[in-house]
Amino acid sequence: MDLGRPCVIITEQMFAQGETMTLTRVEPDAQQKLAILAEEAADEVADTPVGQELQNSIHKAQDSIYEAKQQQGGTTKLLKVLQTSACRYACRYCFSSCAVRRKRTTFKPDELATTFISLHRRRHVDGLFLSSGIVPDADTTMEKMLATVERLRLQEGYSGYIHLKLIPGASFEYIERAVQLADRVSLNLEAPNAERLAVLAPDKEFAESMWQRLAWAAELIRRARAESRQAARSLTTQFVVGAAGESDRELLETVQRAHRELGLRRAYFSAFHPIERTPFAEMPAEDPLRQLRLYQAEILLRDYGFNVSELPFDEAGLLARDKTPKQAWAEQHPQCFPVEVNSAPRHRLIQVPGIGPRAAERIIAARRETTIRDLSQLSKLGVTIRWAAPYLLLNGRRPPIQLSLW
Ligand code: SF4
Repeated sequence: MDLGRPCVIITEQMFAQGETMTLTRVEPDAQQKLAILAEEAADEVADTPVGQELQNSIHKAQDSIYEAKQQQGGTTKLLKVLQTSACRYACRYCFSSCAVRRKRTTFKPDELATTFISLHRRRHVDGLFLSSGIVPDADTTMEKMLATVERLRLQEGYSGYIHLKLIPGASFEYIERAVQLADRVSLNLEAPNAERLAVLAPDKEFAESMWQRLAWAAELIRRARAESRQAARSLTTQFVVGAAGESDRELLETVQRAHRELGLRRAYFSAFHPIERTPFAEMPAEDPLRQLRLYQAEILLRDYGFNVSELPFDEAGLLARDKTPKQAWAEQHPQCFPVEVNSAPRHRLIQVPGIGPRAAERIIAARRETTIRDLSQLSKLGVTIRWAAPYLLLNGRRPPIQLSLW
């Protein structure tokens, strides 16, 4: 790919341990910047479908380009990139932290927009996921990101998918512009509360600069929808899991609050993995299974009507790793089972492990036409039989498989 001009000499800033130095060095061309800044955006979780597909639903198709399955079917290719890898903050797990002495790379807005549009016109990418380090401050950073997106939308006529990160502490007018221009906006809370955030990111502030900005975005989206104006369709956030001693209960309490107060579409969880030269370099990586269980629990809160207080945590506030949260809940509530598939209301059907909202709807439609008497009928309706069978009644009878499992 020929994405840019030859290398030139520029002057740029480098941040290390709180100091600011001005250096003159050779700037990489656009293609080199893309390789660097896309690699550094790799820890941002971008638009994956939910549930069991999580582990393999998104993968690196090429350098800097990620392929994700879409919920409506098909795949989409996202360019996931940072506007800059320079940052004034010292988040302890992050390679972009100013505490890590290293070279930084920055895209100018026009340069990034041109690079993206070149890839898009050649059908290498379908959408853009744009994040950034924060330098010298939140508003300047957002200004550059918005200038990139404005160039795409207003000058290049690009109307495709854009997921734009909001910068903690950014002013209202920048949040407002981001909501007007992007399809999805998000702000990474990183931790479930101020106390845990202080462990991860000692110079970030939770309530004002993060939660408040999400609340502004939520209100702007709500207002735009009410007035049928163009606006981002969804709001998401992301947490680092396993680096601040936080429990699953703490994370999910914050997620539930965000669902209720902000209309949050999704929470993303990123299992901590240590990165060389950061203060957390020697900490153990978090078990990816914990990340998966958190996603499954979030689905129970969002789509199944569960409350955090009903979820099956252990004494440390953690979910079981060896079974799904719904399986663990069902085991703890034998009085709720078995469920008669021919008469149970939807909310009871979806409490059964192996029956999701779509399978429940298919069961309800099917039983208007016929009586469900055997497991093969349920299997055709999308039920995971090996999970569901012990919890079901089929026209008053326990299915045969249940005898060995009950
Ligand atoms: S603000 Fe973002 S980019 Fe900067 S150090 Fe923290 S996590 Fe990394």
